[in-house]
Amino acid sequence: MISSCVYAFDPKNRPVKDAEPGETLTFETLDCFSNEIQKEDQLITSFDYNRANPASGPVYLTGAEPGDILTADIKSIEVAGHGVVTTLPEVGPLADRMAVRTKVLKLSGGYTEFNGLKMPVRPMVGVIGVAPEKGSVPCGFPGSHGGNLDSKLMEAGAKAYFPVRTAGALFQLGDLHAVMGDGELCGTGLEIAGKVTAVLGLIKKTRLDWPVLETADKWYVMASDLDYTKALTWASRQMQELISKAYGWDVTDAYFYLSLWGDLEINQACQPCPVPLVLRLGIPKIPGKPLI
Ligand code: CA
Ligand code: ZN
Repeated sequence: MISSCVYAFDPKNRPVKDAEPGETLTFETLDCFSNEIQKEDQLITSFDYNRANPASGPVYLTGAEPGDILTADIKSIEVAGHGVVTTLPEVGPLADRMAVRTKVLKLSGGYTEFNGLKMPVRPMVGVIGVAPEKGSVPCGFPGSHGGNLDSKLMEAGAKAYFPVRTAGALFQLGDLHAVMGDGELCGTGLEIAGKVTAVLGLIKKTRLDWPVLETADKWYVMASDLDYTKALTWASRQMQELISKAYGWDVTDAYFYLSLWGDLEINQACQPCPVPLVLRLGIPKIPGKPLI
């Protein structure tokens, strides 16, 4: 069980576990407030942001080197019996039309209940990725290394692909959500502690610039930036390159395909916010034609 945590993605973080490709790993994770907000009278304004978004790990993947791809098969996600959602001052489109408030919601029988309405629990991993090449990226921020990708599709059964930038890759994850809508408008989902079982894999010497997510029926590229147009550009270029390479098409045909059969979706866009928005650009999975 991997339970010690860090607050940044950093090639200088000391690995807490060495793993072989194919090994099954279990991560025990705190919620994004380090489990420090437990009651509705505890407001985010009294929380120390240095303790936000802990990620469990990092794991040193044997044989992983810059220029490789680390894969993470998410096998299962177990979540605790209750979660917390908070509004954040000056975050999100309704920041000037809300109170700073904390809600604690209980889970039972696969559902949670909000003001008398039942919502299905759909556990997902918010923070997941590998160390950047250099420097330190707080776990609350997304980037080309992964990080706070906040996709509701990062769930059991999905497989994520990350570009390895340092020896051993230094994989870590945390920030589970029991429920979250695309966009995560107020800046939090139903933040919750839990356990994730994942199998890490290694694809040698294969270029990737941004994280990719493989779901049951689609391939997605996930890209982020404070500027929506830039995030869209990064995701589109990465997808164009992957399609061209996998299908043997030129860049223009890849562009046509993206326009005809690609879907642009939002992971997290609680703007205005100091955290870059994250979008995902997806294409259908075609049998016998893997994108990676
Ligand atoms: Ca998050
Ligand atoms: Zn979260």
